[in-house]
Amino acid sequence: MSDNKLPAKTADEVDVALIGGGVMSATLGVLLKELEPSWSQVVFEKLDAPAAESSSPWNNAGTGHSALCELNYTPETADGVNVSKAIAINEQFQISRQFWTSLVGAGVLKDPSGFIQPVDHVAFGHGDKQIDFLKSRYEALEKLNLFRGQELINTEDRFAEYLPLMAEGRDFSEPVSVIRNPNGTDVNFGNLTSQYLSSLSDRGTEIRYGHCVKDLKKDGNKWIVKVKNVHTGDIRTVRANFVFVGAGGNALPLLQKANIPEIRGYGGFPVSGQWLRCTNEDLIDQHHAKVYGKAAVGAPPMSVPHLDTRVIDGKQGLMFGPYAGWSPKFLKTGSYLDLVKALRPHNIPAMLGVGMQELGLTKYLIEEVLKDFEARMESLREYMPAARDEDWEIVEAGQRVQVIAPAGAPSFGSLEFGTAVINDSDGSLAGLMGASPGASIAPSVMIKLVERCFGPKMGDWAPKIKELVPSYGQKLEQNPDLFDKVWDESQKALNLER
Ligand SMILES: Cc1cc2nc3c(=O)[nH]c(=O)nc-3n(C[C@H](O)[C@H](O)[C@H](O)COP(=O)(O)OP(=O)(O)OC[C@H]3O[C@@H](n4cnc5c(N)ncnc54)[C@H](O)[C@@H]3O)c2cc1C
Repeated sequence: MSDNKLPAKTADEVDVALIGGGVMSATLGVLLKELEPSWSQVVFEKLDAPAAESSSPWNNAGTGHSALCELNYTPETADGVNVSKAIAINEQFQISRQFWTSLVGAGVLKDPSGFIQPVDHVAFGHGDKQIDFLKSRYEALEKLNLFRGQELINTEDRFAEYLPLMAEGRDFSEPVSVIRNPNGTDVNFGNLTSQYLSSLSDRGTEIRYGHCVKDLKKDGNKWIVKVKNVHTGDIRTVRANFVFVGAGGNALPLLQKANIPEIRGYGGFPVSGQWLRCTNEDLIDQHHAKVYGKAAVGAPPMSVPHLDTRVIDGKQGLMFGPYAGWSPKFLKTGSYLDLVKALRPHNIPAMLGVGMQELGLTKYLIEEVLKDFEARMESLREYMPAARDEDWEIVEAGQRVQVIAPAGAPSFGSLEFGTAVINDSDGSLAGLMGASPGASIAPSVMIKLVERCFGPKMGDWAPKIKELVPSYGQKLEQNPDLFDKVWDESQKALNLER
């Protein structure tokens, strides 16, 4: 969208300033607009379009993460398969589904099929050890309401009928097995972001593309946001009661500029990525699932390549990846100096500590970076043995910055694969760091954020949140009737019935 279409001057004073035009800022903007419609809002996005970084559908895998197929959410322990993380992720995704359902009902999200599509989620294993694990996982999840509908496939005929591309050319003397869950989704977070932002713009939020936030300073009980128009070079300041730093990988440097004590000690570890994208329509038509396997030793959990049906702008696609890589940039459009510039005396121990502790990850990333196209095709052939070079091309994925938590005895910092909300003590500024499970659980993360930052308002806001998310304050796994109700409503509202 061109900046010319917008009012010439941003208000000097706003209630809420949202930094970044990705799915996180957009989700929070919509949530706050529902809770407090009279509050003025402005969104600053340094690029000229919404969702052009991690939230772009080509930069992420679009998995509606609900632990139906991601094996890292069900680790094996001495006591069997631990499902507690899987339940927690699934509960969070149910919050997203309810939030979107209410917003479709309210006309805020006008085209549900534009951002969410039903796509089977499949957990894949080969060899006796992985197959035993899949069976134990299936049995552990089978007892839970949230995971109903699973099918364990372990015969060659059914495997070949269901996943023809994965069966072709396969040597079935090595046993294979999959758990199929038909309740999975593919989410176009870019389309979702655009729908959120367009509804916000209709309701008076100023959306300023091509505006890069350069600095944040506290002045009394307000924040002064210094913004540069990247096309004209003009610099202006806006005073805001509340600031959200939804700048994706760039959140760490901006939180450091805000100089809040809560960011001290935190660092960031950038991980880049690449996909193989299928160019052969016949193949794309034969596969309708997101298939996740076991991570290689040392691999970061969010970088296990998977074979993914995508639905982007109404067109089906097929991707394999992401292959993890390394670049010091914090955004795809970032600078090679990002990592160095984020070093501070207070986070150097954690950054160095992680470098020394995570030798397995470092080795894995070096090996991944060195892989050429043919090596990448070999990884794909574990899933699709008959894959041909000419049917695939390499494309760049988004950049993620994993959180490095502060060092403190006895630890020298730790690498976190989750999402961290950092806020200052009076709740006037908050930021989001980390990437996983990411966009899928944005509504639950943002509800937690408003609880933390706007505590005194929660008495007034809780009933509205409950309207938006009927299970607010409850666990659906323990409330099967409520689960049935909200599930049926969301299946209808989001056009997910098939
Ligand atoms: C390879 C990969 C695969 C993924 N797969 C999945 C998946 O399958 N499912 C899932 O749920 N999640 C997935 N994720 C994570 C998901 O993409 C992110 O959690 C989510 O998009 C983050 O949204 P965001 O709004 O925080 O960041 P972004 O979408 O990156 O938006 C941040 C915005 O802030 C802007 N910005 C930065 N600095 C400034 C500044 N100073 N001033 C103004 N604007 C600024 C940027 O230009 C950008 O547009 C994946 C991520 C990657 C990289």
